[in-house]
Amino acid sequence: MTPVLLLNASYEPLTVITHQRAVSLLLRERVEPATDQILPIRGVASIFHLPTVVRLRRYIQIPRHGITWSKKAVLQRDGYCCIFCGLRPGDRRLGDGQAGERLSRRDFSVDHLLPRSRGGGDTWHNTACACQTCNQHKGNRTPEEAGMTLLWQPDIPRVNRLYAITELPEAWKDYL
Ligand SMILES: [Zn+2]
Repeated sequence: MTPVLLLNASYEPLTVITHQRAVSLLLRERVEPATDQILPIRGVASIFHLPTVVRLRRYIQIPRHGITWSKKAVLQRDGYCCIFCGLRPGDRRLGDGQAGERLSRRDFSVDHLLPRSRGGGDTWHNTACACQTCNQHKGNRTPEEAGMTLLWQPDIPRVNRLYAITELPEAWKDYL
């Protein structure tokens, strides 16, 4: 699939759509090109020049809290990166001067910043991805109590499906 970034009429990124859907929206004049970056899409009889960013002609209202919280969604939002130490799947943990096992996605889980046992909720702001070691070290404490620093502030994800894509096309960077 060739992904196309869909913007609201306000130029706010909404989501990523397939090139088939983008072509259909363009043909129905629901969207207009929002970038000069063009991808040639080979059709049956001709080549369609598809912009990698399209903008809705009419503004649509988006419910701000439309993305449902789930553990999987938190891990995707954070790209499986530990909020405390920054390790990701594929990295090796350094311990005692030796390179440890290569981490996989299974080594990461959702940490409640304010622990659930102390009233912390399943919310976007109270949860983040953490590696096993940081999760265990933190235990039933807040990051402050454990002397741990957050590498970023957990927030509501703005664009739902972007996190699945590792390489962002150049033309999207103006909007993300
Ligand atoms: Zn960690």
